[in-house]
Amino acid sequence: MERVDVLVIGAGPVGALTAALMAQAGVRVMVIEAGEPQILSAPASDGRAIALALSAKRSLDVGGFWTHLSPFAEAILDIQVTDGNAPVLLHYDHRHVGDNPFGWIVENEEIKSAALKRLKELGIAVKSSTIVESWEFTASAAKATLSNGERIEAGLVVAADGRPSPTRQAAGIKIKGWDYGQSAIVCAIGHEKPHNNVAYEHFLPSGPFAILPMTATQTGYRSGIVWTEKRHLGTAIMAQEDAYFLGELSEKVGDFLGQITLAGPRFAYPLTFQMAERTIDSRLALVGDAAHGMHPIAGQGLNLGIRDAAALAQVVVEGARLGQDVGGTAVLERYQRWRRFDTGMMMGVTDGLNHLFSNRNPLLTAARDIGLLAVAHCPPAKRLFSRHAMGVVGDLPRPLQGLPL
Ligand SMILES: Cc1cc2nc3c(=O)[nH]c(=O)nc-3n(C[C@H](O)[C@H](O)[C@H](O)COP(=O)(O)OP(=O)(O)OC[C@H]3O[C@@H](n4cnc5c(N)ncnc54)[C@H](O)[C@@H]3O)c2cc1C
Repeated sequence: MERVDVLVIGAGPVGALTAALMAQAGVRVMVIEAGEPQILSAPASDGRAIALALSAKRSLDVGGFWTHLSPFAEAILDIQVTDGNAPVLLHYDHRHVGDNPFGWIVENEEIKSAALKRLKELGIAVKSSTIVESWEFTASAAKATLSNGERIEAGLVVAADGRPSPTRQAAGIKIKGWDYGQSAIVCAIGHEKPHNNVAYEHFLPSGPFAILPMTATQTGYRSGIVWTEKRHLGTAIMAQEDAYFLGELSEKVGDFLGQITLAGPRFAYPLTFQMAERTIDSRLALVGDAAHGMHPIAGQGLNLGIRDAAALAQVVVEGARLGQDVGGTAVLERYQRWRRFDTGMMMGVTDGLNHLFSNRNPLLTAARDIGLLAVAHCPPAKRLFSRHAMGVVGDLPRPLQGLPL
């Protein structure tokens, strides 16, 4: 039976970052991934243009991912928020909070690809096309029997296996959640005029509509679209031919980018909320979507997962340096305590934002417009919101500050 310190289940962005941060600090790590090697080495587009906050970028830099990602990352320098057709405009300029961009937009497949490149560079074993068939937890170790027949013994198991998380289910950890009855239609568009690094978020009654600045390619300027609609409308829109879809999309985007074209396939994601009742169990820690899945209204799902990865890696590395058991109660409880407030607050805020903005109630419309106007005219409040969006508020693990473990 092979013995490692930490067994990570899932080589998605969060699992891979957790593994890289730990391995760089001398922890012996192995990664198990259900996906096939060909798909992992050349991930296909899933239409998601991911907004990475400044602190997430710093962690990816510390984890060695950013060198692979930077050619595909477009900076967000300005953010414009509008509420439906009301004449309210909230404008965030990155210069109001310093020299750094608010964040970067990167396609999800580039993040996955960078993750795998980094694990390879670090010589971390990734067992692809493999799942855990059975678990045995003893006082001193977690023992996994893999689908390829191998047996692995680890001090700690990290569940980074996404929303369905078979590992979380096997541990009997329940989730709380609900369905928003909305879908997010996502795709990349090409356009004639530059986006000038501005991200647009329009709050419409059916849900938020975002236009996100992406890197240009040889064929021209590009932006990412996140178009939220009621589920049945989303299904109907997705069933339309490209020409009709583009017509509808052009109306929503407006003409400020010139003529638009489709620059990739389109996808629709049903939007749900889910949160694990706890993020630790005997020799087990949940990270990323395995622990929490949220509405993409604020583009925070992966950012939160990156914060999990950074916090867990820090408590494990510090615990190991003190001679503690890396899967023991002291280390795991420190992780859960550290992440509880940030996760709960972010999940609450994104859920609240969607309820507040995705409706036509005249009282709520008036209240939120007054709120937006108040923020627009209060520079300290704007700076505080900006710093939250950049993920630089609170008791941050070292990688989120750009510091090694
Ligand atoms: C439309 C949309 C837009 C979004 N936009 C943003 C954004 O702008 N900013 C942001 O921060 N977030 C955004 N998100 C959220 C973000 O995409 C997710 O939070 C993030 O991808 C989760 O990463 P993860 O590594 O936790 O999980 P995943 O990416 O789901 O990775 C899980 C991995 O585990 C593997 N796996 C599954 N089961 C097993 C098993 N049994 N054994 C081994 N391996 C297994 C899978 O193959 C996969 O590789 C968006 C989401 C959506 C739907």
